Amino acid sequence: MLKRAFFFLAAAALLSVWQVGCVDAGPEKGIEWLGHASFRIEKAKKVVYIDPWRLASEPHDADVILITHSHFDHLSVEDVLKVAKPSTVLVGPPDCIQDLAESIATVRRVKPGESLELDGVTVEVVPAYNTNKMHHPKSKNWAGYVVEMGKERVYHAGDTDVIPEMRELENIDVALLPVSGTYCMTAEEAATAAALINPKMAIPMHYGSLVGTERDAERFKERCQPIPVRIFSPTSEPQPEASS
Ligand SMILES: [Zn+2]
Repeated sequence: MLKRAFFFLAAAALLSVWQVGCVDAGPEKGIEWLGHASFRIEKAKKVVYIDPWRLASEPHDADVILITHSHFDHLSVEDVLKVAKPSTVLVGPPDCIQDLAESIATVRRVKPGESLELDGVTVEVVPAYNTNKMHHPKSKNWAGYVVEMGKERVYHAGDTDVIPEMRELENIDVALLPVSGTYCMTAEEAATAAALINPKMAIPMHYGSLVGTERDAERFKERCQPIPVRIFSPTSEPQPEASS
């Protein structure tokens, strides 16, 4: 009798360990939200940063840094230099590279439609632009990215509205989508984008610092069903706002 009870207890313990393991092994594994549109992605022994901004430390561990566009909350020279190491490849639209070309040895100027093979990291450059506001005109050729590391594909939308090109994105494991409104999609529009993209998981971003709140992330999550949404806590605390 005691033996049987022990067996059941052991089985229950194993099951709960297995479940916790499963939570950690989802497509979001290796993805850290650093606040706003800033992410660190570590998969298949590679480290990619996208739009690093307001970082609390200087890890100098980036294999690849991707910049979506030249607005200050996406292109921060100071933060790029905090994550760069001698072998880092910096990728971005030409107007994002100009202030960094002397500091970073390898730079790649890109525009939507191009793709790069960077030693184990495949980068597809995709369009990102506004359709009902003027902050990010299509003519600027600013970017979103699909990053493939190992067999996993992560889409960072950049600052964009819902655009028809989103339908063409294929086999997206994780979609990082802005939800703040004002400069890019609202939570409701981001849920429409998620339905077009049909990722295995969506993660809201671009809120909690300059524009947008946790409420936007929650509304996004409600409206995304049945697509699973994971709301992250930022791992790099934003500093107080400048009073401009
Ligand atoms: Zn932005």
